[in-house]
Amino acid sequence: MAAINEDVFKKVISHCKEYGFVFPSSEIYDGLGAVYDYGQNGSELKKNIKEYWWKSMVQLNENIVGIDSAIFMHPKIWKASGHVDSFNDPMIDNKDSKKRYRADELIEDQIEKYLKKGKSDKADQLRTMFAQYMEASDLEGLKNLIVEHEIVCPVSGTRNWANVRQFNLMFSTQFGSDADEATEIYLRPETAQGIFVNFMNVQKTGRMKIPFGIAQIGKAFRNEIVARQFIMRMREFEQMEMQFFVRPGEEMKWYEHWKSERMKWHLSLGVDSSKYRFHDHVKLAHYANAAVDIEYEFPFGFKEVEGIHSRTDFDLKQHQAMCNKKLQYFDPEINQNYVPYVVETSIGVDRMFLLTLCNAYKEEKVANGDKVDSRTVLNIPPILAPYKAAIFPLVKKDGLPEKSRAIMDTLKFKYNCLYDEKDAIGKRYRRQDALGTPYCITIDYDTAADSSVTIRERDSMQQERVPIDKLSEIIDKRLELK
Ligand code: ATP
Repeated sequence: MAAINEDVFKKVISHCKEYGFVFPSSEIYDGLGAVYDYGQNGSELKKNIKEYWWKSMVQLNENIVGIDSAIFMHPKIWKASGHVDSFNDPMIDNKDSKKRYRADELIEDQIEKYLKKGKSDKADQLRTMFAQYMEASDLEGLKNLIVEHEIVCPVSGTRNWANVRQFNLMFSTQFGSDADEATEIYLRPETAQGIFVNFMNVQKTGRMKIPFGIAQIGKAFRNEIVARQFIMRMREFEQMEMQFFVRPGEEMKWYEHWKSERMKWHLSLGVDSSKYRFHDHVKLAHYANAAVDIEYEFPFGFKEVEGIHSRTDFDLKQHQAMCNKKLQYFDPEINQNYVPYVVETSIGVDRMFLLTLCNAYKEEKVANGDKVDSRTVLNIPPILAPYKAAIFPLVKKDGLPEKSRAIMDTLKFKYNCLYDEKDAIGKRYRRQDALGTPYCITIDYDTAADSSVTIRERDSMQQERVPIDKLSEIIDKRLELK
């Protein structure tokens, strides 16, 4: 990782803390590993990300509906889905540093290192062997690769490795109040299964016709081996998933469809397309016949934000066998009963949040008369910004605060607004730049006379005098996507 990028990432993390976006969980007790809380501004941004996703998936698609299923589910669900037996990551301990790593990540990092040094032959050779061993779940093979390629522990710098072992990522807990009768259940590691087990309920009550989708936003829990990179890899996180049920044999057509639709969604938020790429999976999950990641170039490199998976009929068939009930669809067009195939789109809310902040964070030099000042600004897409407008009375007297609050009252039902009367206007602008607020509206002595205000745009810093009754229209225009 280039030092400069590492720097940007550190700055984003401290910005999150300083401006009320993200706090370490249980901070007064020194925190809890890989668990975070969203603060007063972060929770607004997170809510807007979820709303933008929900609207584009559920509201704009007639054949997609949304649900909200429980986190607690019958333990047999995770047996049927394969998570009890195979939701594992290969882990390896370094005996000197006592640090634990994911073996696959150590190897992937090594491939990247080879590529950066121009050793593409070595990278190819390692990639081929890695794919083979992952496919065969050959743990000894993975260990040998780590040894042969002289991969060292990033902390101790040694090659004193223990054997590679499988580690199940599901959290379990006791369900029920009576200790004798309590059952062990799992905190869901993905929201998708809540959709599969409700497939018949939704299909019947919604009279859904294939192809159709069921979407859901909700918490998921994974006991990640290595929690790192801030909210990139958390033990409690949130997913936005959509399962699209299709006729068997048509899944690849829909897989391509959703691959391109989801990339369009990302680009609609104005991120430079060179920051995104597709990455085909080396090892397919136990349920998939095709899978691709949408990766974004974070300051620490390209990493997955979203996965598009062709899950076949694996999940519905497994549940059908486990619960002994038919999970089928009668297709009137071809007069046939079948278990539908599924194409899934699965994006992490928290990774999308981190992407938005990394992409938005800028430090700029700005002219201030003869001097050059600097500002930190978040160029968050206005539609996602925590606040759409901040309202400032020029001074805290002469009726300007009252007039400002009256204007805020006309806007606040439609937009999340902030009122600020403290400090000089310049300082107030800086505070809003740091939160990513697209508009600052200043009420001054002329306002009472000409019913107009000064509106200042975040990115260009241009100021304009506009009539009060045009404010809503101007903000609306800015919220339109390009
Ligand atoms: P990774 O390879 O990074 O562990 P994954 O392939 O296991 O991710 P999926 O099971 O496909 O991830 O989950 C779908 C999405 O959920 C991911 O694209 C990511 O955005 C998000 N996600 C998965 N695990 C985590 C986590 N521990 N913390 C935050 N987000 C996560």
